[in-house]
Amino acid sequence: MTKTNVIIDMPVKIAIASGKGGTGKTTVSVNLFHFIRQLWTNRVALVDCDVEEPNDLIFFPGAKLVDEKDATLPVPEIITDKCTFCRRCVEYCEFNAIVVIPPVKFAEINPSLCHSCGACLVACRDDAIVEKPYSIGKIRKYAVDEQAGIVEGLLKIGSAMQTSLIKIVKKEPVHDAEVILYDAPPGTSCPVVTTTADANYIILVTEPTPFGLHDLKLTVSLLKELEKPFGVIVNKAGLGNREIYKYLEEENIELIGEIPFDKTYASGYARGELLSFIPKEMETVYRKIVTELKEKVIDYA
Ligand code: SF4
Ligand code: SF4
Repeated sequence: MTKTNVIIDMPVKIAIASGKGGTGKTTVSVNLFHFIRQLWTNRVALVDCDVEEPNDLIFFPGAKLVDEKDATLPVPEIITDKCTFCRRCVEYCEFNAIVVIPPVKFAEINPSLCHSCGACLVACRDDAIVEKPYSIGKIRKYAVDEQAGIVEGLLKIGSAMQTSLIKIVKKEPVHDAEVILYDAPPGTSCPVVTTTADANYIILVTEPTPFGLHDLKLTVSLLKELEKPFGVIVNKAGLGNREIYKYLEEENIELIGEIPFDKTYASGYARGELLSFIPKEMETVYRKIVTELKEKVIDYA
């Protein structure tokens, strides 16, 4: 299998993704954060981009909240006194976010459908639309210690602005981090593309089952299209079958680690105690992965 070396500037950005949920992406993200602090640098940030259900923080009960703010997008509002109910804005809006009913002089924009594209502002010739900040969720920052931190985005219930929130969360400054880990949402759609867009390297977490293989193939074809360097971690190794290894071999995809299935460890996850007891075998695997990841990075900054 080919090993990929990546030449990059600081900070090193590593995204952890998986085609489907339940493969152990959170477990891998949290452990990488833990072992990078031990073996590489303490200037590390873990950014939870799974904004519909962020859960990395659960495993750091001692983390202190240091900042919390609204994540906002500019959303237009119609000034009905100025509106002539011409419906030009309705025709311009690709997201069906505007309702204008001329006979009853009704004009309104649904902020939860609006994608802040600004087209309606261009469309309106009567100066009847203004933009106002609209909250799509929260950004929270936590300190794990003086240098390492966690950032999470939390999408407002009912909001469809997952991708926009991920963009905002990723822009959030993370002190002087040398390594930034992005824990991506599951799937292969826009939110994953946004999370991985500027990553120097992507780790795909999968499991050796037919479902795991199916979703891995989808994610691999997405990353190949994006021309991103990536490698695979097989979680729950020892369960399922060998098909996934055959596929990696055939496609010349780098296997960067195999995390053995451990029942005690899995129940530690369920209790939010992932980092309290790490079995020796598991520790050895993560140490090897982090050491190899570090070697991949040739810093010429
Ligand atoms: S900003 Fe774009 S999406 Fe939002 S209401 Fe206007 S046209 Fe529709
Ligand atoms: S384009 Fe302007 S004036 Fe026309 S319906 Fe929309 S807000 Fe009203």
